[in-house]
Amino acid sequence: MVTQTSYDYILTGGGAAGLLLAFRMSQDKYFDDKQILLIDASAKDQNDRTWCFWSKEETIIEDVISKRWNKVLFKSPWLTASEHTQPYTYNKVRSIDFYNHVHAILSAKSNFTQLQEKVIDIYEDNENARVKTTASTYVGKQVFNSVLFDQGYKNDQKYPLINQHFVGWTVKTDGDFFDPDQATFMDFDIPQKGNTRFMYVLPTTKNEALLEYTLFSKDMLEREAYTDGIKEYLKNLGVTNFEVVEEESGCIPMTCYPFWINNSTHINHIGIAGGWAKASTGYTFRNAMLKTNEIVHQLKKGSRIKTKSKTRFWLYDLLLLDILNNNNAVGSKLFSAMFQNNSLQDIFAFLDEEAHNWSDLKTLWNMPKAIFTKALVNRIIGRY
Ligand SMILES: Cc1cc2nc3c(=O)[nH]c(=O)nc-3n(C[C@H](O)[C@H](O)[C@H](O)COP(=O)(O)OP(=O)(O)OC[C@H]3O[C@@H](n4cnc5c(N)ncnc54)[C@H](O)[C@@H]3O)c2cc1C
Repeated sequence: MVTQTSYDYILTGGGAAGLLLAFRMSQDKYFDDKQILLIDASAKDQNDRTWCFWSKEETIIEDVISKRWNKVLFKSPWLTASEHTQPYTYNKVRSIDFYNHVHAILSAKSNFTQLQEKVIDIYEDNENARVKTTASTYVGKQVFNSVLFDQGYKNDQKYPLINQHFVGWTVKTDGDFFDPDQATFMDFDIPQKGNTRFMYVLPTTKNEALLEYTLFSKDMLEREAYTDGIKEYLKNLGVTNFEVVEEESGCIPMTCYPFWINNSTHINHIGIAGGWAKASTGYTFRNAMLKTNEIVHQLKKGSRIKTKSKTRFWLYDLLLLDILNNNNAVGSKLFSAMFQNNSLQDIFAFLDEEAHNWSDLKTLWNMPKAIFTKALVNRIIGRY
């Protein structure tokens, strides 16, 4: 097969952000006469992650949502809060279902080309962007890149880096131990060992759940430390016999590093590479759904592509990261205060950065004031 080398749009990276953008383009007639190239180094034929996100509106990926919860649990030594999510639902997507679904739709469209090649460089001249892979070089009027080439966030002096790192096991237990109607958002009632550590539990049935032993901290642990944490948690639930059906792991950078400064006329960075991971939580998938929608609108209007910028929410995230960076053990208290003093709906709106009439300030006001004020003062006087 001879592959053409010139395209209207090239999407480098076909994970969450790249495929969501491709999917949106495939569903909009405006793009039917555009030539679109999607390049990923991997075949994307493994269930390599489970995405959860909240929504109160119908999404474009209803077909691949495999589970919805209407209740979530927050737990810590100071607080146990089981909250109804309405008007939101908390939704689960298995990545393999999403990859297969989008690949099939793109394969049926003659204006999409999908290539499995490793991208090694992206650059631009006055007219176009160029994508160099190990096999060839492709020219595009616009490139949307989700490959994390910019590693500058790792040792940036201005913005602290906290990692959200975890190992997750999907387990099947002998006997009923889970409530399939309720997802456990954060259970801090586990040894903190000087960090911010919690268990995240997504039950699908009474005897099957995904449990992720998660830290918001700087340094990774040995794999056994995460899996021992899961075993201990299961033991405390009374589980003696279980089978591990699937495993996943991840490390999501939590940082206010402005990835979008790398955007240029013909190249825009999207997904984690575009700074779409919410710095204070690591949630990225919902952002990717919202932001790919904005990009499609901007392309259709012919307006400047804007993928992310600094807002007051960016500052709130920065303060939380400063706090966790200085005292990593304080996370459990901070998140407890957040869940104690705010409704779940206000928290979702706050994390979505869509709080209206400055209701975000009310949410922030309900957090421990002394700690946040100190972090703000330290930022202002330049101590951080
Ligand atoms: C296990 C796990 C669970 C997660 N769960 C959630 C969750 O529940 N909710 C949530 O909001 N977020 C979650 N996240 C965070 C985030 O949503 C995901 O990491 C998401 O996949 C990020 O999307 P992305 O497009 O930026 O990156 P990716 O999905 O990782 O896509 C990047 C793509 O680039 C490709 N690539 C890499 N290098 C090259 C190269 N040189 N050339 C060509 N292609 C290349 C990769 O193969 C990949 O397909 C999770 C992350 C992980 C790892």
